[in-house]
Amino acid sequence: MLISDTPTVEWISAFTGSLGFVILTPNDAKLITDSRYTIQAQEQVNEMPTVSFSSPIKVDDFISKQAQDMGIKNLRFHADAENYQRVTALRTALSPIAFEPVENVITNLRMVKSESEIAKIRAACKLADTCFEHVSRLIRQGAVEFDIQLEIEFYFRRNNAELAFSPIVVSGKNSAKPHGHASEKRLEVGDFLTMDFGARLAGQCSDLTRTVVIGEASDRSREIYGKVLSAQEAAINAMTPGIEASELDCIVRTELGDLAQYFGHGLGHGLGSVVHDVGRLTATSKDILAENQVWTIEPGVYIPSFGGVRIEDDVLITATGHEILTHAPKQLTILP
Ligand code: ZN
Ligand code: ZN
Repeated sequence: MLISDTPTVEWISAFTGSLGFVILTPNDAKLITDSRYTIQAQEQVNEMPTVSFSSPIKVDDFISKQAQDMGIKNLRFHADAENYQRVTALRTALSPIAFEPVENVITNLRMVKSESEIAKIRAACKLADTCFEHVSRLIRQGAVEFDIQLEIEFYFRRNNAELAFSPIVVSGKNSAKPHGHASEKRLEVGDFLTMDFGARLAGQCSDLTRTVVIGEASDRSREIYGKVLSAQEAAINAMTPGIEASELDCIVRTELGDLAQYFGHGLGHGLGSVVHDVGRLTATSKDILAENQVWTIEPGVYIPSFGGVRIEDDVLITATGHEILTHAPKQLTILP
């Protein structure tokens, strides 16, 4: 098997450089990189030999040579990790070795987290919680979306973390865009303010969304918020090993009732070394929850020209149920 997608290369070898391949056979493995990472690979990779190439050798020719040296006749690749152009180029370079796609045999293993991965996700979740607490102090009428976004970024970077993704900070009508961009807009009384952000700490991510109201909440705002929260809690309460992802999606849509028409995206995703890790919680997903997986649960309701609410937590599946890893307050919060 040739593994080329960065998160899986890191998962299987511990190598974090931007160019890395692992060739894996039932009893052998090798990490391939280029001369920029020769020393880094030797430092990070303990469980397999590392080899690197330099210009003018071409990467595909080098991979081919390594595969031949390992006596490989058939090499498989992750169908979802390669594009057509790469497959064609590699197939030519590898010939006469056969190069064939296979479904996610290794990526699926990544869904179940090790103890050390869970500890790191926990720490990243804690940092997201304290970030919310920190940034809540700055939220008031007249504050600018951009400034709140920057404060979130600064907080993570200052606490030795990377951004798991570019934070979403949207208010008022902007909050009806689930993945809208922060702007120069100032917060106004009655606005929903949705903030979706996460830290990447020691290689593992968190992903948290909270929606607050500025100044005062209308009855409609309270109703929408209450529905999203009860739907989110109903889904979390049902999380236990063996439940199907699609069943959770169904629980949320039932709980949202009429508002379900305004919930257009998936309910959640696997969380790990990348923010959108392996695993999807959608109506059509075939995923089944299992112990030591980590999922986000993030229902939202987005009403055009009114605004939107999303509430997102990170949840670990335990032997008998679940544990919520993010703890920022979720009861409707009205900030000045
Ligand atoms: Zn998120
Ligand atoms: Zn998410």
